[in-house]
Amino acid sequence: MSKLLFERPAITRLTPGVPSKHGAGTVIAPMPLIDGVKVDDLIDKYGSPLYVFSERTIRKGMEDIKRAFSLRYQKVQMAWSYKTNYLDSICRIFHQEGSWAEVVSGFEYDKAIRNGVKGENIIFNGPGKSIEDLEKAARNGSFIHIDHIDELFMLSDVCQKKNIEARVAVRINMDIGIYPKWDRFGLNYENGEAWDAINRIMMNPKLKLMGLHTHIGTYIMTVDSYRIAATKLADLAVNIARKFDHNISYIDMGGGFASRNTLRGAYLSGEDTTPSFDEYAEAITSALINSQIKPDKLPTLILETGRALIDNAGFIAGSVLANKRLSDGRRATIFDVGVNLLFTAFWYDHKIHPVINHSGLVEETTIFGPLCMNIDVIRPSLMFPAIKRGDRFVITRTGAYNNTQWLQFITMRPNVVLIDMNHNVHLIRRAETMENVSENEVIPEYLA
Ligand SMILES: *Cc1c(COP(=O)(O)O)cnc(C)c1O
Repeated sequence: MSKLLFERPAITRLTPGVPSKHGAGTVIAPMPLIDGVKVDDLIDKYGSPLYVFSERTIRKGMEDIKRAFSLRYQKVQMAWSYKTNYLDSICRIFHQEGSWAEVVSGFEYDKAIRNGVKGENIIFNGPGKSIEDLEKAARNGSFIHIDHIDELFMLSDVCQKKNIEARVAVRINMDIGIYPKWDRFGLNYENGEAWDAINRIMMNPKLKLMGLHTHIGTYIMTVDSYRIAATKLADLAVNIARKFDHNISYIDMGGGFASRNTLRGAYLSGEDTTPSFDEYAEAITSALINSQIKPDKLPTLILETGRALIDNAGFIAGSVLANKRLSDGRRATIFDVGVNLLFTAFWYDHKIHPVINHSGLVEETTIFGPLCMNIDVIRPSLMFPAIKRGDRFVITRTGAYNNTQWLQFITMRPNVVLIDMNHNVHLIRRAETMENVSENEVIPEYLA
């Protein structure tokens, strides 16, 4: 066990704030440190705004999920969802923790290879694989997850022409009790489409059916949906064994576990409502163990968990640009972080902490970003202390999707740093420069 950092005891003045319709305003704790490192030092050195990742939190999350599942099931394999966060250093931490790569495009596939992942440890999902992608993945022995029948025919065709074999799984969508149904990816269970694809694969000498896959959605808060999905995939596995005497080697339950973030408009905090890894694990593994699959033939359970493993490990530190009053008298605070850097502000009520304690009046505040655009709202309404121009803050749980869906819009993307296990800070992505942004532009002669 490593020694915890010493934290100086402090007396904190309680600021109850103005009561709202939900009762007394919440006390907003200051956040002077991220993983033991002073936020002020980080911003002084790397600028504002700044993305910060905690390696310790990532590894702790991996430890927790692996423990929850391997306590209950013999063979578990994690696969890191690249689109959730494909900063190379972040991916490499997950790979060091034993995760394979789960990719959804040729670009992500090549990124995984560059990060040292072996072809046979890459799961290739998504509806948009090109013929070249399919051939490369087949030659590398990757697991190609068939999204639609056209893709099955494309793959079969390329395998025949080039005389190669491919390891495949079928992505399956199904009714899991959440509506509207997520049926745009994969082949449907209830209408027999999935079974049809399975039969075509089993009868194709070039295609080796390795597994069954589903990804039932994202931020799924009902563990029972996973139980239903795992039960349906197990039923298919049993039917395959019965008809073809073939045991698939894995069932891949995709991602979708909720993080501890709070959805916009939710009455209760995500900290109180999000199921634990143990609850998800219990639902999935009990469905597999209680199925008709013979105990010695139970497949490896693959998980492609994304947001639940990285949201907590990411932070954005920034500075206040200004305060003003809106026409109805409400306070507005303008941050140097906009929705271009915090795409998930559209879905989440991200928690925000001032870096130092502000003892002034806590009142209803709208937090805007710096963009000249009406939708640039970080928080439509929260109880927040008055923090002045130049004061600093930390937005928490920003690790998922923001470093892949960020936009180079109006401003450039800032530095990203990683705090390692020994509290050393590493720059893992440099801030963009004018050259980076302009280098791909081509000016026709007559405009030169
Ligand atoms: C996006 C995605 C994931 C990760 O989803 P999270 O909700 O972030 O856990 C996993 N598998 C597939 C196929 C995906 O498209």
